[in-house]
Amino acid sequence: MAVKITIDERKCTGDELCIDGCPIPCYQINEETGKAMLIRQPECIGCKNCEEVCPTGAIRVEITEEAGL
Ligand code: SF4
Ligand code: SF4
Repeated sequence: MAVKITIDERKCTGDELCIDGCPIPCYQINEETGKAMLIRQPECIGCKNCEEVCPTGAIRVEITEEAGL
């Protein structure tokens, strides 16, 4: 399994809900932009909590199969 996460910074309000909602957490707020950014994507387990809790729909989580699996 591979996980591809896309953050649409235009939609992000920096409310940190994705940080609170991620069990790792894979996100932190970029101090320069005030937007969410991925810092631990390799540890992502693909639970999609972040996508569900984001109130503006800024996060998209795609689960893809690795070639050959
Ligand atoms: S939950 Fe959505 S709006 Fe809030 S910081 Fe995360 S990406 Fe941005
Ligand atoms: S899919 Fe789950 S583990 Fe991955 S970034 Fe989102 S909340 Fe965190």
